[in-house]
Amino acid sequence: MYKKEIQAYFQTRQEDLIQDACRLIRVKSVKGPALSGKPFGPGPAEALAEALDIAAEMGFQTKNYDNYAGAVDFNDKEKQLDILAHLDVVPAGEDWTKTTPYQPVVIDGRLYGRGASDDKGPAVAALHAMKAIKDLKIPLKKNVRLILGTDEESGCEDIRHYYQQEAEAPMTFTPDASFPVINVEKGGLQGCFTGKLEEGAALPRVRKLDAGLRGNIIPDSASALLEGFPREEVLWLAKRTAEKTGASFQVKDADAPGGTGKGNGFLTVTVTGRSSHSSLPTDGINALTALLELISRLPAADSMGFRTLCAIQSLFPHGDWKGVAAHVAMSDPISGDLTLCCNVLHYEPDCLTGSFDCRSPVCATKELVQDVLLRQLEAIGLSVSGAFQYPAHHIPEDAPFVRTLMKCYREYTGRDNKPMAIGGGSYVHGFKNGVAFGCSFPGTDNRMHGADEFAVVEELVVSAMIFAQVIVDLCG
Ligand SMILES: [Zn+2]
Repeated sequence: MYKKEIQAYFQTRQEDLIQDACRLIRVKSVKGPALSGKPFGPGPAEALAEALDIAAEMGFQTKNYDNYAGAVDFNDKEKQLDILAHLDVVPAGEDWTKTTPYQPVVIDGRLYGRGASDDKGPAVAALHAMKAIKDLKIPLKKNVRLILGTDEESGCEDIRHYYQQEAEAPMTFTPDASFPVINVEKGGLQGCFTGKLEEGAALPRVRKLDAGLRGNIIPDSASALLEGFPREEVLWLAKRTAEKTGASFQVKDADAPGGTGKGNGFLTVTVTGRSSHSSLPTDGINALTALLELISRLPAADSMGFRTLCAIQSLFPHGDWKGVAAHVAMSDPISGDLTLCCNVLHYEPDCLTGSFDCRSPVCATKELVQDVLLRQLEAIGLSVSGAFQYPAHHIPEDAPFVRTLMKCYREYTGRDNKPMAIGGGSYVHGFKNGVAFGCSFPGTDNRMHGADEFAVVEELVVSAMIFAQVIVDLCG
């Protein structure tokens, strides 16, 4: 019901929707130091004020939850559906070519600007869906509430604060990912390890190793300083390892630490791979594990440090993204394979630190993953901190809520994609009845978090239509 009316309505509303998205994109809502009454700094609070202004101009009741989050209510009836979007953005970064990050512009049907697709555009699409129902005078028996968070990108303190005061609605979706429905989000386990090593001074040895900045990003570069190895042998190993791993290796003479000059048997090995998110390990080439592959084959003098590096290599061998060597490989038909990556490692002969990132399917338990992994790290002399396994999030594909969302998506796009499982976590992880839904379309890479982030205008408008239909179907 009402499909014709909804489609006709949005035919002439595209410009309004884009203008409202632009009002929000112009606000640089990157998290900053807390100020009095502004827990995430001035930017997020300003974006929230602007969004609540837009909603009030449309005639909706709004509420500001102490500048953590805001809410826009369709009516004052019983709560049925929450739509959970966010107004904070990641830092602009560099290399923008179409416009500057906070000066939105439409070029060839794409709206460019930081937040266009993550998540200001989708927030505005949801708001315009509510306005469409209001303008079309479609009666709703229950309430739909748009919740606007301001701390999704850096810790989700916004919704923790909100849900201390408010109950979950019977149904919640977050348009902060992609279409169609994401009904499974893997669980996971991230942890840091450290080792105190007895320094081995015997040559040849690995003097230093550095790779990775963030635990959840597969590193695209890694480097090691080697002392006393035959140059030719290292070059030969580098060539072999490059062929095997797909990473590229550079071997150069290096200064000795302390600056006693080149040519004293010091070499640097620099590895270049390809970065990707830890939940998508097959998209990347892990420069760290490629480097460890080479190091484990070096004819080094025996030392506790070298043995530990080799043991880490055996637990996380290059290309083993399923955790086979670590004895945690598992998969289920709902969520797919467990993934495991070692993304950070810093080594000196007397100490090392590093971290790993595991994304686990619905079938994973603490006994089968956390206990197994930690036992092995401890067995090689490492102590692990901060590792706490959280469960996967799963709303069954045949739940009425998911079926309604899928029906509306198919009705307005003509596409027949299936509900999806992802390795990352969204705002609704752990909700009783929450899923991610929109607004990236299959096949569109909106460059979220990157330079030239954009939303396809047509896709934002279709998103608004889908959301309007969802609201009518669930609250009408
Ligand atoms: Zn987001």
